Amino acid sequence: MEKENKYSVLLYYCYAKIDAPEQFREEHHRLCLDLNLRGRIIVAGEGLNGTVSGLVEDCEKYMAVVHADPRFVKTDFKVDYSDKMAFQKMHVRVKPEIVHSSLKHIKPYERTGIHLEPEEFKQMKDQEDVIILDVRSNYEHGVGKFKNAVTLDIDNFRDFPAKLKELEQYKDKKVLTYCTGGIKCEKASAFLLENGFENVYQLHGGIIKYGMEAGGEDFDGKCYVFDNRVVIDINNVNPTVISKCYVCGNINDRMVNCANSECNIHVPICEDCGWKLEGACSETCKGHTAKRPYDGTGYYAKELNGYNPVKGMKRKSTIEE
Ligand SMILES: [Zn+2]
Ligand SMILES: [Zn+2]
Repeated sequence: MEKENKYSVLLYYCYAKIDAPEQFREEHHRLCLDLNLRGRIIVAGEGLNGTVSGLVEDCEKYMAVVHADPRFVKTDFKVDYSDKMAFQKMHVRVKPEIVHSSLKHIKPYERTGIHLEPEEFKQMKDQEDVIILDVRSNYEHGVGKFKNAVTLDIDNFRDFPAKLKELEQYKDKKVLTYCTGGIKCEKASAFLLENGFENVYQLHGGIIKYGMEAGGEDFDGKCYVFDNRVVIDINNVNPTVISKCYVCGNINDRMVNCANSECNIHVPICEDCGWKLEGACSETCKGHTAKRPYDGTGYYAKELNGYNPVKGMKRKSTIEE
């Protein structure tokens, strides 16, 4: 999307020591509300991870405030544009890690793989002694990935360390890891180094930045993102579609959640099958008592409690679009 749009969508992270995460969370949540931002931010002792949307000018103010904090000067914001807010609510939460990885002991701000800028990654990725490693999960690489990338059969990033055996065969290669925005690679690449891999690199800024700065060349399919847009286009050089409709098997990349809230499976379903099954993934789900009404999007806003540190739990929501 172009900058003429009213809203920005920011994706960012920063590994840096935060001494009092709870207190930081409180202040940071107020800042976001003051700027009318919406999205999700995770605060941990090891850093900050967020994706927020808001008016272009508010997002610019937000980035300036974050960069002004000496701990976060190096934060690399991926900025996209949208014609509407990408989130319903603003959440700022404290968690043990900024990405759940079961690698809590690894501190990327002490040691991690060599960062490659998008253009450097593009130059290196087809060299003979290189393998490209996708550290994301099945539902992500199922809709899009780099040509020739090694993918892992995992449903969650916390299962990545268990795949070490599978990766041992690449120990003498240059390993180039990538993920959506770069954050998972900070720990994944550090984990590989810890386990005897010597040449480990990571795509700085992930697929998102690669799309913006290197045209997305050789990225097949679309990139799964964690907001209302669900998937976004990355490749404007040689784009392809790789995913198939879950129902009819035709090539299709329209991601939806099954309308049956108890199933809620997140899969590609084509327009036709979507209407035929009223947004469900199967006849069984179509007939289920928990099936939600289908509006053609396949997106269902989550039930949220509307917590606000200023107003407390009072309101359901006062800042709807
Ligand atoms: Zn279909
Ligand atoms: Zn279903």
